[in-house]
Amino acid sequence: MNTTDFSYCDERFADLQLLRYRVDGFEKLTLKQKKLVYFLSQAALYGRDILWDQNGKFNLKIRKTLEAVYTEYTGNRNDHDFQELTVYLKRIWFSNGIHHHYGCDKFPANFSETFLKEALLKINPEKLPLQAGQNAEDLWEEIAPVIFNPAIMPKRVNQADGEDLLLTSACNYYAEGITQKEAEEFYQKMKNRQQDPHPVMYGLNSQLVRKNGTICEEVWKINGMYGKAIEKIVFWLEKAVEVAENPKQQEVIQKLIEFYKTGDLRTFDEYSILWIQEQEGFIDFTNGFIETYGDPLGMKASWEGYVNLKDQAATERTQKLSENAQWFEDHSPVASQFKKENCQGVSAKVIEAAILGGDLYPASAIGINLPNSNWIRAEHGSKSVTIGNLTHAYNQAARGNGFKEEFVISHEVLELMEKYEDICDDLHTDLHECLGHGSGKLLPGVDPDSLKAYGATIEEARADLFGLYYLADDKLTELGLTPDENAYKAQYYGYLMNGLLTQLVRINPGKEIEEAHMRNRALISRWALEMGKEEQVIEIVCRNRKTYVQINNYPKLKEIFGKQLAEIQRIKSEGDLEAARILVERYGIKIDPSLHQEILARYKQLNLAPYKGFINPVYTPVVDDCNQITDIQISYGEAYDAQMLRYSKDYATL
Ligand code: ZN
Repeated sequence: MNTTDFSYCDERFADLQLLRYRVDGFEKLTLKQKKLVYFLSQAALYGRDILWDQNGKFNLKIRKTLEAVYTEYTGNRNDHDFQELTVYLKRIWFSNGIHHHYGCDKFPANFSETFLKEALLKINPEKLPLQAGQNAEDLWEEIAPVIFNPAIMPKRVNQADGEDLLLTSACNYYAEGITQKEAEEFYQKMKNRQQDPHPVMYGLNSQLVRKNGTICEEVWKINGMYGKAIEKIVFWLEKAVEVAENPKQQEVIQKLIEFYKTGDLRTFDEYSILWIQEQEGFIDFTNGFIETYGDPLGMKASWEGYVNLKDQAATERTQKLSENAQWFEDHSPVASQFKKENCQGVSAKVIEAAILGGDLYPASAIGINLPNSNWIRAEHGSKSVTIGNLTHAYNQAARGNGFKEEFVISHEVLELMEKYEDICDDLHTDLHECLGHGSGKLLPGVDPDSLKAYGATIEEARADLFGLYYLADDKLTELGLTPDENAYKAQYYGYLMNGLLTQLVRINPGKEIEEAHMRNRALISRWALEMGKEEQVIEIVCRNRKTYVQINNYPKLKEIFGKQLAEIQRIKSEGDLEAARILVERYGIKIDPSLHQEILARYKQLNLAPYKGFINPVYTPVVDDCNQITDIQISYGEAYDAQMLRYSKDYATL
């Protein structure tokens, strides 16, 4: 497929939009590197069924049954019931289970019970996931209530205070009937026994079960729970060891294999440390039990896997900033006593995702910072990545969807944004991550936690302002990072439009701004509006009953950001809680209800999907007569349902 055929946007249904991403670095790899990507990709795809089972114990059975109906159905595929069943199946594919991936609520089935029952009973029973001694009727009895009764397993992860979070959550990390109290006591005892300064992440890789009346762990490992899937993962990891880029990377993969064989969390910690230390390889990966959002107690990790390539050009960009960290520190508008004498930029790596698997598929994070173990992070650091090709796909998909056309004030500004926004957006993120968070210092004796609940917002504001201020600086043009002296204006406009207006689309009517990054954007934007009031630097204007942001003086706005940065840094350095409180409460939280209503209404008529996910590329090995791999080809054309059905067939393990 050539580049012009490539489309970033694919299917759209319910509240979901499927996108595609490109892996442009893949073609430039050596054969050995391509093999490494391919083997690690296989390992990333083979864990899929683990996640499905973790998300709920009926998920695999329901998926397999519905896939059988979807492929074998002989009736009219345009009928309402079949169409609704298709949407339902696509939604559960997307969520790796019967609950919404983000909201955690069970999906309603908008097709009739009789329709599904009749369709199911007509299928050749060999195509159905029947257990020994079970017939299609039995299968129906087992899964129908789970699909159709809203009272059964209503939420995957329940966080409501005061309820038993295990008994009310549908996730499968704790066997049925185990109470929150029992689980908490079990792990408290374990922690008390160990008293370890370097504690493992207790409970991370197991299901808690009751055996003969006693509670114990069923560990996820070879010859243990999920052993069949883990065997396949290990098979491909062993192939990857042979084509690793360097000895350290080889050691990393071997350690992971050892962990999968033993299930010993101490081995997992050793693996994590080796993984942080391996910085030379062009290819990197994550594979294992990583994030704990799916467990209401936050202990047990869902399975995820992905593979990535270093984005050389973008990484050079972040390196340029890091190398000049001291220059930026010395020239910032912050008072000299709050500046760092020895400033080292953090070298965050920009990467291209090559495959997404498990809990990162199809909905994926765009920035990842691992490992999660606190003591390992404190003593050995972490790896921070931004996934450039996914961000790019989001940006491309947003082109022409009408959002900017609706909210940007004029054609001129729109053109400015089309031209510069993507590059400036990336650059602002780089400045924020590589320099902003690392800049400045606390005065001696100031407690780093003194800003309390306002700390996170102030910290994000500090990093954002550092980026905003320098984005308009000649130094960036001099370093070859911004194309010209007008580029920053696109970012300034986009930032204020978001902070003053459009970020409100993510908040429900009647609610306030809660999330720290969102509070920070409101704080900076609304405060800037007020600071520039006299000289009308920024104006809120109303046209045809629609509210817009207008920026009249961009250089003055840079000065305002500079003044804000100086004050925010002072607050941070001195630990001035009262000043932090006043700023955040005044500018960062409240929402004007009538403005909110207007923004929500304008957003709604654009009919955009709030959640997005990705279809993976397909890697196909080319083999010679002796069955040796001579090349790996990448292609992008696979349809969403075809990919899901292929994964269900080729990577079926549980
Ligand atoms: Zn930040």
